[in-house]
Amino acid sequence: MEVDVDVVVVGAGIIGATCAAELAGAGTRVAVLEREQAPAMGSTGRSAAGVRVQFGEPTNVALSLASIEVYRTFPERHGIDVGYRPVGYLLLVPETDWAGHLGGVEIQQAMGAPVEVLDIGEARRRFVDLDPAGLAGATFGSIDGVVDPHMVTQAQLDLARERGASVHVRHEVVEVARSGADWLLTATAPGVGQGSERKVIRAGAVVNAAGCWSGALGRLAGLEVPVTPSRRTIWMTAPRPGRATSPLVVDLGSGVYFRSEGQRLLFGRSNPAEAPGFTTGIDWDFLEPTYEAAAARFPWFADEALDQAACWFGYYELTPDHNAVLGANPEAHGWYDACGFSGHGVQHAPAVGRAIREEIVDGRSHTIDIDPLRLSRFAAGTRRDERHII
Ligand SMILES: Cc1cc2nc3c(=O)[nH]c(=O)nc-3n(C[C@H](O)[C@H](O)[C@H](O)COP(=O)(O)OP(=O)(O)OC[C@H]3O[C@@H](n4cnc5c(N)ncnc54)[C@H](O)[C@@H]3O)c2cc1C
Repeated sequence: MEVDVDVVVVGAGIIGATCAAELAGAGTRVAVLEREQAPAMGSTGRSAAGVRVQFGEPTNVALSLASIEVYRTFPERHGIDVGYRPVGYLLLVPETDWAGHLGGVEIQQAMGAPVEVLDIGEARRRFVDLDPAGLAGATFGSIDGVVDPHMVTQAQLDLARERGASVHVRHEVVEVARSGADWLLTATAPGVGQGSERKVIRAGAVVNAAGCWSGALGRLAGLEVPVTPSRRTIWMTAPRPGRATSPLVVDLGSGVYFRSEGQRLLFGRSNPAEAPGFTTGIDWDFLEPTYEAAAARFPWFADEALDQAACWFGYYELTPDHNAVLGANPEAHGWYDACGFSGHGVQHAPAVGRAIREEIVDGRSHTIDIDPLRLSRFAAGTRRDERHII
């Protein structure tokens, strides 16, 4: 069977869902194809759910500011609370990084992002007990915080459907071909009984929102999209009744971060020895080094018990400069990349959805200049590494 649409979105994570809602809202006929049996089962459902304006690159600050505003106003615009809570992000900055960090804060503040510079004494009084050794200062973003990525994805897919889009779970794209100016995507889909059938979807445009599988999807179309999976573990402490709400605190020197999740602490740290690829399972070998690093900065952390059953792992979708690959692919007319968020796709999804809608419908993203995130930056040698990857 063949299905005809204007745009096919591959992936029903937070990015694909948001792109679909935006495109369908502009009158485009959209189909979303998702391999899993439900949306948000990729990185979206495994993230730490943080949103923050504290980035080093202006484009990332712009994407965050626009996206946080969408999350903040979601209830009044759509009647759904997508879990945005401005608990704040507190970044603890080592002496060696202070000057560079303040350069980033200048950019953030000039763009209207509410970020305060604090001395360590004030950070301790207001937020968290810590050992100040080697720290120069801290910064706090008051509109930074968390959202509920499942709620966002579901709400955006509901909007997409209301606007006429079709969403097909258990549809895995296995072949991509061209037919004149169109794309032909072949997906395996549930068939009669236990079997599966092949469906062909014809579309004028493809949105590559396949998360850490975006490189693999690109290869099906003969394209080089430089996105690599890299495992990350989220650890969770046992609940502690009466625990105060903690902002998301990042010790930039060690990379340890934590925030409260109800009565628990959710915490994590990127393992510098993690090899690229789809390594499965929780990184138990990295638990002790993570605890040690956490307790070195926050001595009380040593008394936090782990709840093994509440921990999980997922994949970052890394690019060489830790910035997204966004917009029309220069090698293939009608192919649009929305991937490679390198661990910050949840916080950029609303602005990315709008940018992709503008690329496809208006010919170019115009509300936010996404040129620094275009794939062409790698060939042109104009890439700029994002320093604030956690
Ligand atoms: C441990 C961890 C912590 C994180 N913390 C944060 C955070 O605090 N804040 C933040 O902003 N981000 C965070 N991230 C990153 C964030 O989760 C991702 O950037 C974001 O979820 C990317 O969304 P996505 O929709 O692009 O990808 P995904 O959610 O992975 O969705 C891609 C979808 O594409 C589908 N797919 C792939 N290939 C095919 C195919 N061939 N056919 C059909 N379907 C296909 C997959 O099944 C998947 O559902 C974190 C990630 C991890 C792992």
